[in-house]
Amino acid sequence: MRMKAWLRPVSLTAALGLTLAALVWNAGCTQPYSGKSSAEFQNATIDALLDGNYDGDMPFSELKRHGDFGLGTFDHLDGEMVALHGTFYQVTSDGHVHVADDAMKSPFSAVTFFRSGTARPLTAAATYHDLQTALDGMRQSDGRVFAFCVEGRFAHVRVRSVPRQKPPYRRLAEVTKEQTVFDLKDVSGTLVGFWFPESLRHVNVPGYHFHFLTNDRTAGGHVLDLKMIDGTVRMQELKVVKLALGPHAPATRPAQETPPAAGELDSAEK
Ligand SMILES: [Zn+2]
Repeated sequence: MRMKAWLRPVSLTAALGLTLAALVWNAGCTQPYSGKSSAEFQNATIDALLDGNYDGDMPFSELKRHGDFGLGTFDHLDGEMVALHGTFYQVTSDGHVHVADDAMKSPFSAVTFFRSGTARPLTAAATYHDLQTALDGMRQSDGRVFAFCVEGRFAHVRVRSVPRQKPPYRRLAEVTKEQTVFDLKDVSGTLVGFWFPESLRHVNVPGYHFHFLTNDRTAGGHVLDLKMIDGTVRMQELKVVKLALGPHAPATRPAQETPPAAGELDSAEK
């Protein structure tokens, strides 16, 4: 009887541990390593988004055929998209997190099948700048695209989301002046993002671009700043870039005589 009295709490603890392990598994970056290089796939260019092309042209059912991990936005610029483990999340400007329906459409997203074989622990507290310096040290090339998945504990993550727009659309740098900013304190979650080379500035955001999602899936958004406590970084080099240009994009895109200025991209996406 005495043994049984001991066994019960032990088995409960074990069951709880397994549940927590399963939660952590689902929350993080880990996927079986395929040994193959993945492609980065995206619909539309960052220049098209900066120009105010917010009409969704690609359903999420189609995006899922090209990746299970990534970031982007929604039809009418209705919030920030974070894709992790094949689930596509929508963080709306009220800060709520929704699971995106397959029939919803995106005007701009970047995805890949994230299968990283290498993990690097981050044991010291890091600012966003420190983290980017650490990631710089992991990249073996300044000419290719890299996907990064960073799971960890954060003292602070400053995220933003953007409000749904109505046509005629304004340029993104104008819209982001009305973004809602959330300061998340003491949260555990995952940074999902990419590093793009300067040479692809008109295709996607050069440098680092991260979206964040908490482990409990209650908050997230486009990352503006952070303070990390500790965590694990996983990286995947992407040797192929696939770019899909929707048939309706030119018709819905406001006529612009000049390409977006460099400062415009920084104010909208950095
Ligand atoms: Zn973003």
